[in-house]
Amino acid sequence: MIEQVPSKVDMDKLVSLCKRRGFIFPSSEIYGGMGACYDYGPLGVELKNNVKKAWWKAVVQQRDDMVGLDASILMHPQTWVASGHVEGFADPLVECKQCKQRWRADHIKDGKCPACGGELTEPRMFNLMFKTFVGPVEDEASVAYLRPETAQGIFVNFQNVLNSTRKKLPFGIAQMGKSFRNEITTGNFIFRMREFEQMEIEYFVRPGTDEQWFKHWVEERFNWYTNLGIKKDNLRLRQHAKDELAHYARDCYDIEYLFPIGWSEIEGIANRTDFDLKQHAKFSGRDLSYFDEETKEHTIPYVIEPSAGVDRSVLAFLADSYDEEKDKEGLRVILRLHYALAPIKAAVLPLSRNEKLLPISREIYNSLRNCWMVQYDDAQSIGRRYRRQDEIGTPFCVTIDFQSLEDKQVTIRERDKMRQIRVPIETLASTLDAKLNYEPLEVLPPGGKKWLGFE
Ligand code: ATP
Repeated sequence: MIEQVPSKVDMDKLVSLCKRRGFIFPSSEIYGGMGACYDYGPLGVELKNNVKKAWWKAVVQQRDDMVGLDASILMHPQTWVASGHVEGFADPLVECKQCKQRWRADHIKDGKCPACGGELTEPRMFNLMFKTFVGPVEDEASVAYLRPETAQGIFVNFQNVLNSTRKKLPFGIAQMGKSFRNEITTGNFIFRMREFEQMEIEYFVRPGTDEQWFKHWVEERFNWYTNLGIKKDNLRLRQHAKDELAHYARDCYDIEYLFPIGWSEIEGIANRTDFDLKQHAKFSGRDLSYFDEETKEHTIPYVIEPSAGVDRSVLAFLADSYDEEKDKEGLRVILRLHYALAPIKAAVLPLSRNEKLLPISREIYNSLRNCWMVQYDDAQSIGRRYRRQDEIGTPFCVTIDFQSLEDKQVTIRERDKMRQIRVPIETLASTLDAKLNYEPLEVLPPGGKKWLGFE
């Protein structure tokens, strides 16, 4: 449920920036679009990959107790019977008798159509899973579903992972990938899509230690967003009320972000007890217990599930980093993205298209692109080129001028405060590397110096 509170950023501005600069486009736009589906453009795919990389690094790479998985989207249909999705993954749908628009009944406040105020039909339950058929015959026996969450791929592989990695409790499995939901109400850009990506963890623990691990994951996940630059004021935790909890869940917190549409869920963290493993054991007839060598007993682990949306995270990072500054040339638009998330890490900008600057500039560009996504731009004035990079969140611009031909030095200009330092070309890559890891700009490489006219 979205709580309507004004956010500082306008959704229209974000949508327009995303389209204009190639972050996000409406899907199949030339045919009029495909409802609630979006395509990530050249910069968007970099940003989205960086969000996923940052998540993987934090939850798999840097932890002893986590491993990764990439399960298939199409799964045995019994999976969704066991998980409860066939029976219960439904939203209450109402339709306006006047304008025929459809809404989720649980999102309606006063019983009237939000578009025209018309009378609404009685709610009917609508299953959100996309159905398809596997093989040449379209009959009930060949029905399959596009997964509505990635989590079930983890549960059905619990024993495979356990046997192949010999992990001991507590341990977790992380997975990211596409999920599909035939959502009823859409329309908030990439906040609610029919095809989206999730980043999910199932963390298996001994029963009795679940509350402590639940707390751990709520904190870890909250800090992940703030460590990547989300402002604390725009992030909050909301505990689910008892009547909101699924029947098997012990506790659940949503991490909410103050989106341009209001406070809303970006990630949910739930204590799902032993429900999922028990269900899959029951429906598959397989033993999904864990043999505890300490107690010499078989147990069904409890599971803590932090479940995040990639696209909602991308939207939150975009909204949070969007900034505007008035200056003498008009308006400077800046995406103050965390350096780890910025789609392009550096831009190489020869002062002019003069052919003397070309070889050295191309050489610098070719060496830097071995390390990072780097852009080369020599069109229009240097000021405009800086603005273009600010608007897409590029942390550093490297400017090559005529003096560079003499002293073999270049200027690094940073995005946030527009400060500049001058560094030897031979230390440029290592300097950028250190600055991209947030070394202060004041720390100069050997032979480096502050740029003239810069305090
Ligand atoms: P909502 O109440 O907003 O429909 P949910 O509680 O059904 O979300 P979960 O099933 O907990 O969502 O999914 C975990 C995460 O996946 C969400 O926190 C969200 O970031 C993401 N997500 C879920 N549905 C969508 C969607 N339709 N579009 C984009 N992201 C989604």
